[in-house]
This record gives sequence, C-alpha cells and structure tokens, in this order.
Amino acid sequence: MVVSVQAARGALAEIVGSAHVVSEPAALEGLAVDGATPRWAARPGSVEEMSRLLALASSERWSVVPRGSGSCLDLGAPPARVDLLLDCRRLDAIVEHTPADMVASVGAGLSLAALGAALGRHRQRFPVDPVGGASRSVGGVLATGASGPLRFRYGQARDLLLGVRFVQADGSITWGGSKVVKSVTGYDVPKLLAGSLGTLGVIAEATLRLHPMPPASGSWLLSFRTPGAAAAFVGAMLDSTLQPERLVVANAGALRAAARPAAPAAVAVSVGSIAEAVRSQGSELVRMGREHGAMVSDVPEDVWLELGAALAGPVRLKLSGEPARLCHWLAEVERLAGEASVPVSALGDAGSGVLWLSLGRAAADGGWLAGAVGTLREALSGEGGNLVVERAPRSLKDHLDVWGPIQADSLAIMKRIKREFDPTGILNSGRFVGGA
Ligand SMILES: Cc1cc2nc3c(=O)[nH]c(=O)nc-3n(C[C@H](O)[C@H](O)[C@H](O)COP(=O)(O)OP(=O)(O)OC[C@H]3O[C@@H](n4cnc5c(N)ncnc54)[C@H](O)[C@@H]3O)c2cc1C
Repeated sequence: MVVSVQAARGALAEIVGSAHVVSEPAALEGLAVDGATPRWAARPGSVEEMSRLLALASSERWSVVPRGSGSCLDLGAPPARVDLLLDCRRLDAIVEHTPADMVASVGAGLSLAALGAALGRHRQRFPVDPVGGASRSVGGVLATGASGPLRFRYGQARDLLLGVRFVQADGSITWGGSKVVKSVTGYDVPKLLAGSLGTLGVIAEATLRLHPMPPASGSWLLSFRTPGAAAAFVGAMLDSTLQPERLVVANAGALRAAARPAAPAAVAVSVGSIAEAVRSQGSELVRMGREHGAMVSDVPEDVWLELGAALAGPVRLKLSGEPARLCHWLAEVERLAGEASVPVSALGDAGSGVLWLSLGRAAADGGWLAGAVGTLREALSGEGGNLVVERAPRSLKDHLDVWGPIQADSLAIMKRIKREFDPTGILNSGRFVGGA
C-alpha cells in the first residue's frame, strides 16, 4: 500500500517513467474532468504498463478516469473524484492491418485522423464520423458509442467493433470478441464495452471492421419551405431504391451555423459508389427533391464538417426516438426552444431516429433546460425513446439527471455487470446511467 503523495508519484513513475507522470497542480488543473481535478495523470506506453497502473490503482482504491483525446470527458454524470487520469494516447500503434480481410487492430489512443490516413493508403476506411471526429481517439469513440452521419449506411462504432483487448479494474488484461477469457464468458464483450463510458474496463486495443473507400462520391443539400416537406422527402427516400451513405435532416439553426443559405429545414445527402452510380443516384435524388418542392444544390464534401460544427454550442442533447418521428421531435424541440427564445441547431440521422441538438447559451439560464428536458422525456417515454444531456455547464449538470429514467430491471442488469467487471467501483464510477 502506497502511503504518501511522493511515494505514489514514485510508484507511477516506476511503471511508466517519470516523463509520463503528471503531478504538478497547474498541469493537473488543465486536465480537470467536468470540474474534478485529478491527483495524478499517467501515460502508459504499453498494455502491460496500463495493466500495472490499474493493478496499483485497484490496490490503492484510486478512482480512475481513462482519457483519449479529452473531447467528451464531460459526458455523463460529473465524477465525485478523480485520483488517476489514465491517458491512453501513447497506445497509438496500428498493431495489424490485413487489407485483404478488411480488418485492422489498433491502439486505443490512435486518432481517427491517423487511422484514416493509414487506411486511406489502401483505399479503405473505418466509416465512423462523429462530431469533431478527426482528433478523437479510437478508444474514446468506442467508449462513448459515438456515431455521425455515416451511421445511416454503416451503423455506429459498436457495429464495426469485432474485438477488444482491454484492461479490467484489477489490472487483468482480457480479450473480448473472437478470443474469450473465462471471467467474461457469456457476454458479447465488444458490444458491452462500446458505449459503456469506460465504466467496465479500459480499452487498450480494438479490432475494427473496415469498408472500402468508395471510388466516387457526391453530396447534395436540399432546402425545403417547411419541415413537413423535408419529412415527406425523407420518407420517400427511405422507401426508394436509392442507397445514400448519409441522410441527415438539418434545421434552420444548423444551416445558419454552417453558413448555408437560410431555409426552414434541409436534408443533406451523400452517395458513395462507382462514378456512374453516383451520377445516376444523384440525378434521381435531385428529381425526387424537386418533386417535393426542394431547392437542390450539389455541395462539396466540406458540408459535413460545417454541419457538424453547428453542434458546438454550450449545451448538447441527444434525443433518440422512432426514426419515422424524427421531424416530429425536431418540431417539438423548436416549439419549446422558440417559446423561450433559445437558439437551437439540430441534425437528425434519418436512419436511426437520433437527433443531436445544440442549444445556445440562453439554455443555460434558470430552470428552462431542466423543464424542457423533463417535458421531452415524458413525451418520448411513450415510444421507448430517451434523451441524454451530452454537454452542459457543470453548474447545470449538478441539478439535472443527464441520463434520464431507466427501467428498474435494466438498471439491475447494468449494476450486476458493473459489479462483475469492477467490483471495487474504481472505473469512472457514478458516471453512467443510474450511477453505475
Ligand atoms: C437511460 C439509458 C439507458 C440505457 N440502457 C442501456 C442498456 O440497458 N443497454 C445498452 O446496450 N445500452 C443502453 N443505453 C445506451 C448506451 O448508453 C449507449 O450505448 C451509449 O450511451 C452510446 O449511445 P448510442 O449512440 O449507442 O445510443 P443509441 O444509438 O441511442 O442506442 C444504442 C443502443 O442502446 C439502446 N438504448 C438506447 N437507449 C436505451 C434505453 N433507455 N434503455 C434501453 N436501451 C437503450 C438502443 O436501443 C440501442 O440498441 C442506455 C442509454 C440511456 C440514456
């Protein structure tokens, strides 16, 4: 058992080397997690070092927060305390890439940009494009269950995760996926870890399913006079034989934030395929758009980054409902926000019914946000949907249930799994649904 701060620093340095331990108060303040300053940060350079760090943390009962690029550390309930920040960025190797099998195993600290560059040389890609994606680490993207517009065609990160090498709270190194170890037999471990917010284990390496880079692609923006017309067009697209890669509904606020021509609603679509198919699908969707009264323009690929940037506000919500009701929920949010003059930018994935909402600073004032979140959750509960507060100032989060209600039997299962994976509760404890 380590007894003093100096001894703790020494023990960490003995594992990762002194250059990879942060213990200076000013530097640690810059690494605060949702307002909680860590006591130490350490950057393991191998899975074995990560394992030894966790074994030490476990024996000391230190609370541990894994860190990737740091972009989503405020996701979930605020941590009560952070002892050790486990920075995964040195685990950034492409461990194995077998282009013929369309599979790659990579370190959790690798950024999506670096992964994309390496795969691009083989005309392949990992088609997951969450907001701010390029700098985000593979581990962080998986742990948050992230997705972006490409979800329409390829699913979310968890759907593309074939296996994980992860470190359990006590330091054991475990494989989940194709190779299963006795302590976790019976679970689909990759599915469990994806989206678990680092509460069950620290992902060290991930085996990813890849897709070929389409030889050609095109993007179009269709502006509509009413949200209803946009909804009708989306319905027609979903019923058609067209196979877009992305099909995203944007509201007036998102178009404004992306510096695109003003409209009450728009639909952004991309197609990726051989050049001939892109041309023929493009002309068919332009025809369908015009039939639904849209102004259609073809736009550069940058439009996806511009639209993503529209979600950069101080408050971000993720609403999940019936896909067919996406535009209904968008209208409901706009009505609530309009009553309080709160600016809202919204992007919705037509395939999954997930609607990302970025609210202006006015949402942070008074009790409006809590009231709006409560109203929406109550309405969503009728169709099994939910709403997560993904980002908000800490002062607001302290008075909000960021995850929302969960059925008692689901919560009991999640708590049992948490106890099994992390019996002493040192991993990101209290951050996930129901305090798991
Ligand atoms: C209140 C709440 C409870 C959750 N419970 C679970 C759970 O028991 N098992 C699980 O795998 N993931 C659960 N999740 C989802 C989990 O948090 C996500 O995997 C993660 O947050 C990443 O989001 P996503 O993009 O995968 O979410 P989504 O794309 O919205 O959903 C991913 C998966 O989680 C399911 N899911 C989403 N919300 C709920 C919910 N309220 N209750 C049950 N299932 C839900 C979806 O049906 C889907 O299978 C829950 C989320 C919330 C907000």
